[in-house]
Amino acid sequence: MPRRLIYAANWKMNHGPTAARAFTERFLALTSPAADRELWLFPPAVSLTMVADAVCGRPDIRVGAQNVHWEPKGAFTGELAVPMVTETGARAVLAGHSERRHLFGETDEQVGRKAAAALKAQITPLVCVGETLAERDGGRTEQVVVRQVDAVLERVPAEDWARVVMAYEPVWAIGTGKTATPDDAAQVHSLIRFELSRNGVTGRVPILYGGSVNKGNVLSLLAREELDGVLVGGASLDADDWAELVGLGG
Ligand code: PEP
Repeated sequence: MPRRLIYAANWKMNHGPTAARAFTERFLALTSPAADRELWLFPPAVSLTMVADAVCGRPDIRVGAQNVHWEPKGAFTGELAVPMVTETGARAVLAGHSERRHLFGETDEQVGRKAAAALKAQITPLVCVGETLAERDGGRTEQVVVRQVDAVLERVPAEDWARVVMAYEPVWAIGTGKTATPDDAAQVHSLIRFELSRNGVTGRVPILYGGSVNKGNVLSLLAREELDGVLVGGASLDADDWAELVGLGG
């Protein structure tokens, strides 16, 4: 099977509807569909409808939410339900981004529930895992990543993993300018694959790498066949830069 890379842009708390429209119009003008890549955009919730509407003629572009609640509705002030996300035209959701885990106290169990809720609504969870610097320095990378993967395995049966995408994002590399080496990233990707197969997941679950990816390092990372794409924050915010980056790796 020819390699099909995923380039996912996490805008974090940037680009409200006006900026999101300007980005999307420019990005659409600068890119065209290519058989060897998918382009995923994760705008803030308030911009989902605008972006999803704008890209609806581009089957190579998928839009997703940055976070959801696992319940379909109810008294959860400030939260976003999966059915609300699908109503905007979005077809993916980030689950367990490290900023959600570490700044907002999201637990492994909640990440598993969010992934399961996305699958139930027929959209793709992009499940993020990764260790902190202290955990890496303490030799606990493997233990932490396996624990995070296992929490999702508890809620998502093996046969549903054909519809899951994962991202390995070492916390110490996110927004810091420090990137895992291609070898380090590949090693953790292989560990994740081993843990999935040990638990009955057959088939290749795509695993993206994220953490200070930019135009200067994306090629050396994607040179490793263990990586199925990249999840990018800071370097995805400018439409011209992002279009250039996604044009590099094919
Ligand atoms: C992210 O937000 O998932 C991310 C990887 O951010 P950055 O590329 O800025 O490190």
